[in-house]
Amino acid sequence: MKPASTMQRDEFGAVWQVSRVCGVCGLDEELVLDADGEVIYTT
Ligand SMILES: [Zn+2]
Repeated sequence: MKPASTMQRDEFGAVWQVSRVCGVCGLDEELVLDADGEVIYTT
């Protein structure tokens, strides 16, 4: 887990981003979380 980028903060109110490997398709994807740990979006 690492801090969200400035763009993610400004556009989505995101606080954290987490990289993981998708269990379905096996691709690297990124979860973007708000201050409560709620997922805002995944790439
Ligand atoms: Zn996937």
